[in-house]
Amino acid sequence: MITRRNSKIIQIGGVAIGGNAPIVVQSMTKTDTRNTKATILQIKELEEAGCELVRVAVPDKQAAAAIRCIRNDISIPLIADIHFDYRLALDAIDSGVDGLRINPGNIGDPEKITTVVKAAKAKQIPIRIGVNAGSLPSDIDPDLPVAERMVSAALREINLLQELDFDLIKISLKAFDVPTTIESYQRIATMVPYPLHVGITEAGVPPAGLIRSTAGIAPLLYQGIGDTIRVSLTGSPVEEVKAAYEILKSLNLRSRGPVLISCPTCGRTEIDVVRITEEVNKRLSSYQKDIKVAVMGCAVNGPGEARDADIGIAGGKGKALLFKHGQKIRSISEDSIIPELIKEIEYLSRE
Ligand code: SF4
Repeated sequence: MITRRNSKIIQIGGVAIGGNAPIVVQSMTKTDTRNTKATILQIKELEEAGCELVRVAVPDKQAAAAIRCIRNDISIPLIADIHFDYRLALDAIDSGVDGLRINPGNIGDPEKITTVVKAAKAKQIPIRIGVNAGSLPSDIDPDLPVAERMVSAALREINLLQELDFDLIKISLKAFDVPTTIESYQRIATMVPYPLHVGITEAGVPPAGLIRSTAGIAPLLYQGIGDTIRVSLTGSPVEEVKAAYEILKSLNLRSRGPVLISCPTCGRTEIDVVRITEEVNKRLSSYQKDIKVAVMGCAVNGPGEARDADIGIAGGKGKALLFKHGQKIRSISEDSIIPELIKEIEYLSRE
């Protein structure tokens, strides 16, 4: 049982983050924000995949202006990612953005931050203090370990926002190095009450990027640390969202659609588990209901797992036993396994 850290709840465009609110899945578009058509299209794909908050890069005034058009055409809250130029944050606020991400490492001047905070406060727009190991403020002692420097950069910014009586704060402390990231979040989690956005930055291409992200995000979530997550991949943002849900589903923190349990196969396997599993997995992507499906190769672990699932099979020689809701239903031939399983999944999805 995971006990969540008791963080403050903030709202970004109506999505609650922190406290006991569901851990929010977010992603970032990979289009040129100025190309509103492509950006809206990608956000709609992300919405479809279950993305609950989306961030767009705002590298110039044109991108900041594009937020207005993008915002009008999407259903999930939009966050502007701001680096270097604080005026772009002001423009993004004017364009109706729901949240801001600022990097303390490249908008260091307290006066500029103060201007942004005042504008955000007037419209009750939350700010994420997004510290990144690759862009730490240059005046923080370079001899300190990276985790301490990241925490120090965040605390300095948090103090500034608090002095301005602003508490719609979310924090992230991302590094490519997993132990550094975990240590940074563990430290900050005990120091401030604000919700934490967790992720491993620049995690790379799948599958290495997926594994690195999971290795960093899952231990933190298991310790109750993390209120929103992003899996950062060099690849499709839709894959980021799917991966984020798989992490949350694996820890029983969220459910979203079917879960497939399948054995790795071995010398005992007497049916084509790989082909059956691949086909069932493909078909399951069209179902929304939280159904547990098991495809198991033999009588060793097969009946146990199949019984534990909503629907499952345990293979035998050229046939399989079909289980539903923990009960053995019937024996089916190997050729009928896929159609029978799909038929039962269809029934279950309507129950
Ligand atoms: Fe092998 Fe049976 Fe285990 Fe599958 S369930 S890996 S076939 S022992």
